[in-house]
Amino acid sequence: MLAIHAVPAFKDNYIWMLEEGGRAVAVDPGDDAPVEAFLASRGLTLAAVLATHHHADHVGGLPALAQRWKCPTFGPAREVSASLTRRLAEGERFEVPGIGIELGVLDIPGHTAGHIALTGAGLLFCGDTLFACGCGRLFEGTPAQMVESLAKLAGLPAATEVYCGHEYTLANIRFAEAVEPSNARLAERKARDAAKRAEGRPTLPSTIGEELATNPFLRCTEREVVASASRHAGRDLAGVVEVFAEVREWKNGF
Ligand SMILES: [Zn+2]
Repeated sequence: MLAIHAVPAFKDNYIWMLEEGGRAVAVDPGDDAPVEAFLASRGLTLAAVLATHHHADHVGGLPALAQRWKCPTFGPAREVSASLTRRLAEGERFEVPGIGIELGVLDIPGHTAGHIALTGAGLLFCGDTLFACGCGRLFEGTPAQMVESLAKLAGLPAATEVYCGHEYTLANIRFAEAVEPSNARLAERKARDAAKRAEGRPTLPSTIGEELATNPFLRCTEREVVASASRHAGRDLAGVVEVFAEVREWKNGF
């Protein structure tokens, strides 16, 4: 049965390791050393590497892992192309080597121009686009692109497990409380996730259903989010893209 492990890297990254039958697949390995240590500690063979976008803290370890294990590497068609054996674009499906699951590809530009999500088997690997109770910064895209990308992810089944690239959850919840102070689900979520962190455990995965209920970036049509964003902007905001853009700006300075 497939097991998914969070391997911490750098300050707050997670490299997701999918394990099945003595083989493993690494998602967004920003560093090869913690992946190698994980494989050695469990006696596993690396069967493939998957990447969501080109940032070094997600793919820095990819070339060394591919060379050491002679394994296929999958990533966005419009990014990290030199080191990929398979370039993925929206609508494609592929069997992940060695672990018996099939994943589909969504194009989700905004954080980077070619960012992809991988989803299937009730799982979502979304890199730095959707975070637990937050979303990625817009380094290479527009608010309108990010709104569309997040809407694709929000449309996945509510039980879908969300595996994102960083442990930002508690800080994101503090911001969400400022945006939507009367959302009671946020207090529940903060208590649950703070308890996990106090035990040294990841807050992830979350679920799409939990994100829909608590993530302000997926709630830009909710009355309280619109009102808070308008107050922060000092003017009435009209439409989901304007509200999203204001909430994203607000978070940048929070
Ligand atoms: Zn990134």
